[in-house]
Amino acid sequence: MSDKPRLLMCPPTHFGVDYVINPWMRGNVGRADRREAKTQWDRLHGVLRDLAEVELLEPAEALPDMPFVANAGLVCNDAFIPSRFRFPQREGELPHALRWFEAHGFRALELSGSASFEGEGDGLFQPDAALLWGGYGVRSGLQVYREIAEWLNVEVKPLRLIDERFYHLDTCFAPLPGGRALYYPDAFDRESLEALRGHFPEDQRIEVGPEDALGFACNAVVLGDVVVTSHAGPELRERLGAWGFRTEVCPLGEFLLSGGGAKCLVLRLDNTVAPVKAAVSRPPITERVVTLQGQLLDTGLLTTALDAITDLGGTFDFEEFRPGLRQNEASTARIRIVAPGGEQMEAILASLLRYGAKPEEALREASLCEVEQDGVAPRTFYSTTIYPTDVYLEGQWIRATKQRMDAVLVVKEGEHGRHVECRLTRDVRRGDRVVCGADGVRVHAPRTRGRDESFAFMGAGVSSERRVEVVIDEIAWEMQRIREQDGKIVVVAGPVVVHTGGALFLAQLIEMGYVQALLGGNAIAAHDIEYSLLGTSLGVDLTRGKGVPGGHSHHLRAINEVRRAGGIREAVEQGVVTSGVMYACVKRDVPFCLAGSIRDDGPLPETLMDLYEAQRRYQELIVGADMILMLSTMLHSIATGNMTPAGVRLICVDINPAVVTKLTDRGSLESLGIVTDVGLFLNLLTRRIKEVQPERRDG
Ligand code: NAD
Repeated sequence: MSDKPRLLMCPPTHFGVDYVINPWMRGNVGRADRREAKTQWDRLHGVLRDLAEVELLEPAEALPDMPFVANAGLVCNDAFIPSRFRFPQREGELPHALRWFEAHGFRALELSGSASFEGEGDGLFQPDAALLWGGYGVRSGLQVYREIAEWLNVEVKPLRLIDERFYHLDTCFAPLPGGRALYYPDAFDRESLEALRGHFPEDQRIEVGPEDALGFACNAVVLGDVVVTSHAGPELRERLGAWGFRTEVCPLGEFLLSGGGAKCLVLRLDNTVAPVKAAVSRPPITERVVTLQGQLLDTGLLTTALDAITDLGGTFDFEEFRPGLRQNEASTARIRIVAPGGEQMEAILASLLRYGAKPEEALREASLCEVEQDGVAPRTFYSTTIYPTDVYLEGQWIRATKQRMDAVLVVKEGEHGRHVECRLTRDVRRGDRVVCGADGVRVHAPRTRGRDESFAFMGAGVSSERRVEVVIDEIAWEMQRIREQDGKIVVVAGPVVVHTGGALFLAQLIEMGYVQALLGGNAIAAHDIEYSLLGTSLGVDLTRGKGVPGGHSHHLRAINEVRRAGGIREAVEQGVVTSGVMYACVKRDVPFCLAGSIRDDGPLPETLMDLYEAQRRYQELIVGADMILMLSTMLHSIATGNMTPAGVRLICVDINPAVVTKLTDRGSLESLGIVTDVGLFLNLLTRRIKEVQPERRDG
């Protein structure tokens, strides 16, 4: 046998673009010229025949992609691992390939499981190394590489593809002899790109630009010091030349209509891996099975969870899926997750916990890492949600206190035993022990997530107006009940409340005892006092809806008067401010917090410009809240939402549906969004409250 490289090709006798299974094929169905394709293929075949021994696979009718023989499977030594195609359109190619390999003395190794694998399209050996690069994420599943690594006793480095146009690894990556490589960086996720850059030093890698990449320059057949490709720009050719490679360009435009280049048309038959004495280290690919239960389909929870897995670099297989057959019946999904490494798996599990996922394996202790620097959490810290959270330590579940989202879990040993609390990263101190990863963390997320409960008031239909009225009736009723039980209602309000004429009604709600704390920024107070002193809001006369001369400075004058008095409380006590929201707060002793922002005018003396202090004060004021009314302020509402644990009724009113969705998408039934004008909302709400509770009108 000669020591020339051995290749397999398949003539394009039946080639065509007959269906669409990748972005290149879109719009190209029926457009490939078979004769031109044959000419291009013959030229490639001719070039390769001079450099290698080329065997031919008999083409079969009605299998237009069969010339892309790289996807038939993967050869290593005398073993052939047949592909498991992702799309049924290509499944028919397999028996032909299997027959050929059997007839030529290869032993077939059939993959277990159900994940797809598209052969040398995704599995590429680094020349002269016991290393296989494993592409996954578009066509092949990550899990197949564990088995392949085991069988071939090679190291596998997984690379996740994120651009559907580069759907196989060989479309964007060509390993070269001498420990070098050619690749298109934008086709990979961040971790994979880091892995490539970590493996190939800067002078041993060529990162091609989009022009070369889209011409399929990386889809190259590399034979010794010859790189055969359908395209290579002058700079690329020069750089390859500097490494001692000759570039042979064979245009393959017809095949590009299908998303294939030179390498796709060739399968290597001579991949050899020298027997390694000791077992090579296994790829760090890890698997876990989790169960998700709840309204998985109609709330879109399942899609969200699966997106989280793939976004974090993992892949998944369903072990079992039982849909709820009736509206209120929960669905159950058992999902096998595969991640390229332990860290990614931890991130995936941590993210799935917020959807109530339960890992199936034996219970593991939470892992704790020590804080090394004040205000900086360990890298792999578990980030909290709004839901009640337990931590498993020394055989015991401990419920975290001060539940809020975007915090870390700090484990403390105290007089009364062990204690876990949610704390902001900036507040951790050296030596604190923080829960890392998702092991030993249990989140009590609701099994039934809320549907999109946003109601359109400004929308077209009359019925939606009626719907909003019904919803407001309900809110009025809830507020009244909370009031009767001496509960707590917190209002978060932006200046639009004043601009829309809602301040009058908000002040009435405060006076009637329906507000126990007010949160906002400088603006709500500034414009409320402007209105009280000068009858305008942002210079607009609210009774006539018209700007008044010099009105643009009214809020500055109002702020100035409050500053002269020494503060809002003082301005009320001195009789400077005699009406409005802030007046009502002072009169009713309703605590308020005005959190500063960089755009604030003045600010008013009470506005807290120390944001740590403002956040602390907000958090203090929402403790024990039964309901939080968020009225037309995105900034302060988001801040409040993040601090609020699940279980508190959140009502968000904003004219912008996107803001309402963002604020109410907490996955719980307690949040309700209303898309409407806040002035109108407050007007209707106050009227309704007075109707249901007229005797409370005077407090
Ligand atoms: P924001 O952008 O956070 O929120 C305004 C929200 O109101 C938006 O979501 C918008 O969709 C909504 N909205 C607009 N018209 C509405 C209507 N008719 N009905 C219902 N919703 C409506 O802005 P913000 O809270 O107003 O201000 C952000 C920060 O800037 C705050 O801290 C505020 O105090 C400060 N600010 C200061 C001054 C000042 O000092 N003069 C003026 C304005 C804002």
